[in-house]
Amino acid sequence: MKRQTFAVSPGFTVGGTVFRPDQLALLGSIVGEEASIELTSFQQLYVTMREDRVAEVQLALKEAGFRVLPAGHYTKGLLACQFCKGAEEAGLDIARALDTAIAGHPVPSPMKIGYAGCALGTSEPLLKDIARSSRCGRHSICTSEARRKD
Ligand code: SF4
Repeated sequence: MKRQTFAVSPGFTVGGTVFRPDQLALLGSIVGEEASIELTSFQQLYVTMREDRVAEVQLALKEAGFRVLPAGHYTKGLLACQFCKGAEEAGLDIARALDTAIAGHPVPSPMKIGYAGCALGTSEPLLKDIARSSRCGRHSICTSEARRKD
């Protein structure tokens, strides 16, 4: 039986990347007993399951509010912080727009893009391939390549 792997995430909001209990219950019950669910460092779960049921399962997961993305050599969903300073000050709308724009594009190797809503950077964006943070209302974008040259 051929198997396929894909990524799922609940997205992010004020409070961080948070699964609802009903989402986890659905995920555990729908993927099949032979499936595996891996916790990754991308704020995503990797689901590996029977290929012939993937389309049906992905549709049900999307209806439950999951974000479904390809696994492997793709840009990951935005690795965002917990927006503890509030949606407006920490830029939740900006983060969601960025996430929509950047996630799921094919790249030579898996790419992490970090987002911090303030200069504290508690989500460690500077450890990612590309980082976005802010200071005094100004946006800052930094790449790992630029940091290596510093
Ligand atoms: S980066 Fe700033 S806004 Fe985001 S969780 Fe950390 S302290 Fe809060």
